[in-house]
Amino acid sequence: MLPVDLPDAVRDALLAPLVDHHCHGVRRDDLSRAQFELLIGESRTPAPPGTTHFDTPLGAAIRRWCAPVLDLEPHVAPAVYLGRRQELGAGEVNRRLLQDSGVVAFLVDTGLEAPDLLSAAEMGRHGGAAADEIVRIEQIEQDIAESAAVAVDYMDSLGEELVARAARAVGLKSIIAYRCGLDFDPSRPSRGSVIAAANRRLSDPRERLVDPILLRHLLWTAVDVARDRALPIQFHTGYGDADLDLSRADPAQMTGFIRALQPLGIPVVLLHCYPFHRQAAYLASVFPHVYVDVGLTLTHTAAGSARILDELLELAPFHKQLFSSDCYGLAEGCHLGAVYFRLGMAGALGRRVESGEWSAADAARVAHMAGSGNARRVYRL
Ligand SMILES: [Zn+2]
Repeated sequence: MLPVDLPDAVRDALLAPLVDHHCHGVRRDDLSRAQFELLIGESRTPAPPGTTHFDTPLGAAIRRWCAPVLDLEPHVAPAVYLGRRQELGAGEVNRRLLQDSGVVAFLVDTGLEAPDLLSAAEMGRHGGAAADEIVRIEQIEQDIAESAAVAVDYMDSLGEELVARAARAVGLKSIIAYRCGLDFDPSRPSRGSVIAAANRRLSDPRERLVDPILLRHLLWTAVDVARDRALPIQFHTGYGDADLDLSRADPAQMTGFIRALQPLGIPVVLLHCYPFHRQAAYLASVFPHVYVDVGLTLTHTAAGSARILDELLELAPFHKQLFSSDCYGLAEGCHLGAVYFRLGMAGALGRRVESGEWSAADAARVAHMAGSGNARRVYRL
């Protein structure tokens, strides 16, 4: 898979086990073609009549790189691929694709937990890897809003539940980018404003939370917990599904909040980032507690992903970059995240070694840091 002229030390470092610091469960059931296609890409809608989601960078990548893991030739037709998937069954397909990705630890965002998705522990078992949980704070808020009777209960329970869930997790995650955008007021809201907003919230608790006051309260409560337990907080930034207003997902818009967190020493992990990965690289370069990841992006840009990794390496310190697959629903996502991380890094590092810019030992060290070392340090694995 890797270029033949890559120095052995770099090759070995790139093929070493990875820590996937952001992923979701994959589907445990056998999928119809329509179900499978809905999980290719982030649109979550069927392709227009007469077209297929296989005609995307990710669709082509599945046929190229995942087909051989299912004993097929590269580039087989979608129907052949899906037929083989049915024949093997979801359990075997998941085991093959997860194990072949060479991931040794999964950090699973359990905020999308559903009966048809593998749990964090099951991801570990199927993948022959360790597994830990990342707690999505907006999911906790939703549970509390649906059970609290009055505003004070809501505030107390929110804090208690975050503490309890964080005790079993290795990090927290916020999707505030989806709910009110990253250009939120970075200050902690007053108790009075939170009580007033909570009263409004409790009158219709099933609605998904979009009130910026309560979202900021939730985030600052999570910051308190993260500080006490020395946990990183992940943020969705950049690329996502159609629910997201991309223009409000540029991580540079949360610079004020990042600045406010600096004295607290809480690691801020910017997920996905594309097409703002250069802004993210800048933030990682100027703030000591900011980390950056282009997971999801690598899978979805597939054949174009090497350029994006190279752009990240332009500026982001090497001790700030993390690998993730951000797989969701399809184990193919995990496999492809690992493939494109290794291919992209091989190209970028190989060119630096070849031009004499870096030594092979430097390149190997950077590959190791981004692949697993940085995640082990940040999440204290
Ligand atoms: Zn994700």
